Amino acid sequence: MAEFTMELNDEQKEVRDWLHGFAADVIRPAAAEWDEREETPWPVIQEAAKVGIYSLDFYAQQYFDSTGLGIPMAMEELFWGDAGIALSIVGTGLAAVGVLSNGTEEQIGTWIPQMYGDANDVKVAAFCSSEPDAGSDVASMRTRAVYDEAKDEWVINGTKTWATNGGIANVHVVVAVVDPELGSKGHASFIVPPDTPGLSQGQKFKKHGIRASHTAEVIFDNVRVPGSCLLGGKEKLDERLARAREKATAGGMERVRNAAMATFEASRPAVGAMAVGTARAAYEVALDYAQTREQFGRPIIDNQGVAFQLADMRTQIDAARLLVWRASWMAVNGKPFTAAEGSMSKLFASETAKTVTAQAIQILGGNGYTREYPVERMHRDAGIYTIFEGTSEIQRLVIARTLSGMPIR
Ligand SMILES: Cc1cc2nc3c(=O)[nH]c(=O)nc-3n(C[C@H](O)[C@H](O)[C@H](O)COP(=O)(O)OP(=O)(O)OC[C@H]3O[C@@H](n4cnc5c(N)ncnc54)[C@H](O)[C@@H]3O)c2cc1C
Repeated sequence: MAEFTMELNDEQKEVRDWLHGFAADVIRPAAAEWDEREETPWPVIQEAAKVGIYSLDFYAQQYFDSTGLGIPMAMEELFWGDAGIALSIVGTGLAAVGVLSNGTEEQIGTWIPQMYGDANDVKVAAFCSSEPDAGSDVASMRTRAVYDEAKDEWVINGTKTWATNGGIANVHVVVAVVDPELGSKGHASFIVPPDTPGLSQGQKFKKHGIRASHTAEVIFDNVRVPGSCLLGGKEKLDERLARAREKATAGGMERVRNAAMATFEASRPAVGAMAVGTARAAYEVALDYAQTREQFGRPIIDNQGVAFQLADMRTQIDAARLLVWRASWMAVNGKPFTAAEGSMSKLFASETAKTVTAQAIQILGGNGYTREYPVERMHRDAGIYTIFEGTSEIQRLVIARTLSGMPIR
């Protein structure tokens, strides 16, 4: 087990500097254009693939870093560049993690390379869980997967929404109900291979922020996938369902829910790190502006009213990063989340990004309110962090339930 450290080692610093260079030289200069276009920035993803940032190898290296700091460091730097473009680059990773954590070795080897493609022909992947009537309330999911034993195929029907890269992905990972009696424990994940008949894109959403990232509905109309596309395989699923049924009848549904919660706790710090990246970017622009913009014959930072805002912004960003790093280290080292530290880090970092980016607009005055400066885009982007991967209200619910042991609603 790695000791918790608040300092990156030399190798991590090298990776951080390399990522920062890419974020500063390639991502940031392209940010305004792709925000306006509201399209997937394929040329930037291609650049990232060429240098090795858009690849399973890079992602896996950070994911398995025992200090826990690899993923938060990488997310912070890329999202510092631009949130919409960075999400286009790391969105595939969300689907890949779904396969890495539940798939067999054969599934990992077959499907993950097809999620990324290669530098000459980049592909993206999508993770489809949310539905129009099942957002925060994941257990009310309706998309159904039924096993056709005669053909050894699964038949998937339903509508998913809000899928990052949904419909444009080469490979989709979809979560569907296989046993409606078991709530979220009756769900299973499936690979939908490229060009499978019956899968289509519904509406593409026009969004407030992260507009370079494609978000759309995905419709599954009698989508048939081979039995080998069930992540983890049928035998493992049958065993898991049998165990869940046993626990449910023995009154252990609460334990079953707790196990699912532990998985979410482990993935939330990564979203917190994205929020830290956006907050830091806006803070840096505001600090620079406050030091150079003069009013009343002196830089505006000479006023406590401005300087104290910057002091608060930086304090909140550093506090958010520490919470994120702690939770990420706990996740990688299997420490129990006794106070929902994963949710805590995501809650604090995402709320910090919203506050800090709003303060940055204020410090830039009229300029902050225009698209000539990046802080208004950063503020629009920051809004997503308190919504996806569990809203702030859901994070508070999880923290409060964990602290009190009460079924708080
Ligand atoms: C840009 C974007 C990208 C996304 N990408 C993906 C993706 O790739 N894959 C995917 O599966 N999903 C994705 N999502 C979906 C995202 O995870 C959901 O939007 C989120 O979980 C919230 O669900 P909802 O939108 O249905 O809101 P709802 O659950 O309807 O919530 C609405 C409001 O009610 C509040 N609320 C709900 N229940 C409670 C409660 N019990 N107590 C207090 N308040 C409550 C919420 O906090 C929120 O403020 C994405 C969403 C967006 C916007």
